[in-house]
Amino acid sequence: MRLERIGEFGLIARLKDKVCRPNQRVVAGIGDDAAAVRVPSKGLLLLTADVLVEDVHFNRRIQTFWQIGWRALVANVSDIAAMGGVPKHALVSICLPKTVSVEQVEELYDGMQAVADEHHFQIIGGDTVSSPRDLVVSVSLCGEVEERELITRGGARVGDLICVTGDLGGSQAGLAMLQLSGTRKKSHRASLSAEQWSAVRDRHLRPQPRLYEARLLAQEGSVHAMIDVSDGLAGDVGHIARESGVGMEILEEKIPIGSQTHRVARYLGKSGLDFALHGGEDFELIFTLSPVDARRAAEKVRGETGTPVSVIGKILPAQEGSVLVSPQGKRNPLIIEGYRHF
Ligand code: ADP
Ligand code: MG
Repeated sequence: MRLERIGEFGLIARLKDKVCRPNQRVVAGIGDDAAAVRVPSKGLLLLTADVLVEDVHFNRRIQTFWQIGWRALVANVSDIAAMGGVPKHALVSICLPKTVSVEQVEELYDGMQAVADEHHFQIIGGDTVSSPRDLVVSVSLCGEVEERELITRGGARVGDLICVTGDLGGSQAGLAMLQLSGTRKKSHRASLSAEQWSAVRDRHLRPQPRLYEARLLAQEGSVHAMIDVSDGLAGDVGHIARESGVGMEILEEKIPIGSQTHRVARYLGKSGLDFALHGGEDFELIFTLSPVDARRAAEKVRGETGTPVSVIGKILPAQEGSVLVSPQGKRNPLIIEGYRHF
């Protein structure tokens, strides 16, 4: 169905039906001039926003509308998680080209609502406008955290170990394969089985935020600094170094990279390490804490969520800079290079 048949308000009414859930905290949701929510009497509000622009952050030839919606909310949930908090309310603004159908917008919202349902928060408003060409999805997410559980990028201390959840580079490997195929042709599976191929693709198409893991770490209280991996390991540890005023060494051989990521990289004539360092959107957590606390925290995360935690390096004094140590012991400056918008 064409958007012009039901217009802006017809569309908003449909989206409201899709995302509205009874919620004690929400006094006014979609349908008023502004949403009104009850705020807790103590603790901190966390506020984050992410804009996704067609052909910069997603590609309609590779991703379905459902996957674009999923990805848009996961990026925000991951940011709230990295602060140690829980997501509560989202505002979603969409700029729609005339060629997008009502069904496609509904599919976009199904993808977003799937994330909201999984992590127990609500879409309570937004804005809907037309766009001359590209689809743009902008999400603002509000979350909460108790002050003593807040974890910033700025708290890393000299001597801390640097840990990472899961493995890195998978999203970039999935994207590279999807770009190669353009479609989902079998010929470009890098001799992966059907099951492995869908796992590689899902790392890009259906990333998972590490919200439970982050909450365990926040409640545990021993983490000094944390960030989610959205721009690749090199860039994101760089943010910790800068904000904390420290240096660091990362041991190349300790960086967790999945066997399928290596396999895809080899097939494409690239390196899995490059995917991990400079890819992005893995949405894993990087965190630092003292060596005595690291073992306990890692065991707790693995025990309660099944997610592995790897120690990949340690925090050094600022004057030692940030280095990547090769398996042969060669120390190279950690080149900090994420996606460049400008
Ligand atoms: P206003 O003109 O006051 O900005 P709108 O007509 O844009 O109001 O929006 C009406 C209601 O619908 C508001 O509650 C707004 O938050 C909600 N809304 C509009 N667009 C969206 C959207 N894309 N997703 C969710 N809620 C939306
Ligand atoms: Mg409006």
